[in-house]
Amino acid sequence: MEVPTQCDVVVIGGGPAGSLCGSLLAEEGFDVVLLEKAVHPRYQVGESLIPHFWKFCDLAGLTPEIEAEGFLEKAGGTIVWNGEINQMAFKDFGYERPALHVERDRFDLILLNHARKRGVRVFEEVAVTRFESHGDADASVFWRPVGESGEGENELRCRYTVDASGQDALLARQLGLHRTDPDFRFMSMWGYYEGSSFVALDGKVHPAEMLTSIAPTTFVSSTELLGRWGWVWQIPLRETTSVGMIVPMDRLKAAKAEPGGAEGFFRRICSEVPLLQDLLAPARYEEGGFHLLRNYSHSSTAVAGPGFFLIGDAAAFVDPVLSAGVTVSLYSAWLCAWTVGRCLRSPERVASHQDFYTQRLVERVTVYRSLVLPAYEGRKQMADDARRTIRREPLTEQALMAVATALTDRSVDIDAFVDPTARHDLSSRFRTLEGLEF
Ligand SMILES: Cc1cc2nc3c(=O)[nH]c(=O)nc-3n(C[C@H](O)[C@H](O)[C@H](O)COP(=O)(O)OP(=O)(O)OC[C@H]3O[C@@H](n4cnc5c(N)ncnc54)[C@H](O)[C@@H]3O)c2cc1C
Repeated sequence: MEVPTQCDVVVIGGGPAGSLCGSLLAEEGFDVVLLEKAVHPRYQVGESLIPHFWKFCDLAGLTPEIEAEGFLEKAGGTIVWNGEINQMAFKDFGYERPALHVERDRFDLILLNHARKRGVRVFEEVAVTRFESHGDADASVFWRPVGESGEGENELRCRYTVDASGQDALLARQLGLHRTDPDFRFMSMWGYYEGSSFVALDGKVHPAEMLTSIAPTTFVSSTELLGRWGWVWQIPLRETTSVGMIVPMDRLKAAKAEPGGAEGFFRRICSEVPLLQDLLAPARYEEGGFHLLRNYSHSSTAVAGPGFFLIGDAAAFVDPVLSAGVTVSLYSAWLCAWTVGRCLRSPERVASHQDFYTQRLVERVTVYRSLVLPAYEGRKQMADDARRTIRREPLTEQALMAVATALTDRSVDIDAFVDPTARHDLSSRFRTLEGLEF
């Protein structure tokens, strides 16, 4: 099959956002072409999913495929913050379906294959090089087979282009819309350990072999070793454990100067953070799995415009502390598919459809920022927007936001954002432990 020269919608990137948006549009009968520069299954970070993602799987009809994969179900979170240990479970907030720890190569492949089944024409090893708008519903995407250099580019004409290129943020960068977030000057380092112990919801530490019978929690811990905003994660997966850290950017120079460079720094911190060091004591570090990503927090000054929409990380990303990245990406993909469908059916109302998309997505990102922002004080407009949106959420969802942020001590304003009724009896929704039981 050859990449065509024309279609209704081009989707750039086959991560969760691109695949879901493509599936939903193809289901509505539109001719969708998805161009992906990698070959799936391909590696991706972001393995801890909150249960909210299920509603998008339901909408796209892909829940049975996700369930059949047998990803690890997680029981909740173990949060060690400023020395205090707390545990929480999603079921205490009314969620009946489990949160998951997923190998993203497998998860993303399921979504991409689902898009194929729904009629999306998927082309891998095809890199989009640039975008050109010819007006409201008329655009071109230029592409090249991966590995082919030279001047020649191929043109694919479409009515709308949806950029789901993740952190590459292809369109936002090309159109000058991309902004690094000044409030989140962080980098992330992560790697994988085989045979790590894990924490269950009973506060006990279990050996890796027990993962088949006892549900793990996602373990996160703040650490003075990385300064005020630094924290680490430990996410048990079926065959390995993802371990990572969020590090203020000003540590980069010192980290690189350590023996073994940034990777040496990463391994040293893993062996020194209290409790994490104990969980990793029986584990073997997997060589070749180290990653470093700088300034991953960004936003776009516009998320829709003549002939284009931005979704997922290609539109904005904040901070992984609440494990909401994939869910927010799926939300934007669903919202975008809905909006593009309306733009294609009633072109005379494109401007108002795009305004609606922008307003809803910006609101969602503002909430997300407000829940994880280290220094939020004093920004009234942002606070007002966050409060208005948060108060439209169900009370249990607001309670979850209040607990999640209180336990990580990130959002100083959260108490003012959530409805007072949602704050009632919060202490029954998490428990404080004296220590972990080894
Ligand atoms: C350190 C870190 C930890 C995280 N942890 C979590 C977590 O625990 N839980 C969570 O929910 N989220 C987490 N996230 C966020 C999560 O990884 C992202 O939100 C999610 O992957 C975004 O999905 P996406 O579809 O927008 O982009 P991606 O998954 O990045 O997919 C983008 C796709 O576009 C393709 N592409 C890029 N450029 C081009 C091009 N020019 N042409 C063609 N194709 C292209 C790429 O190959 C890729 O397949 C984390 C993020 C970071 C940085």
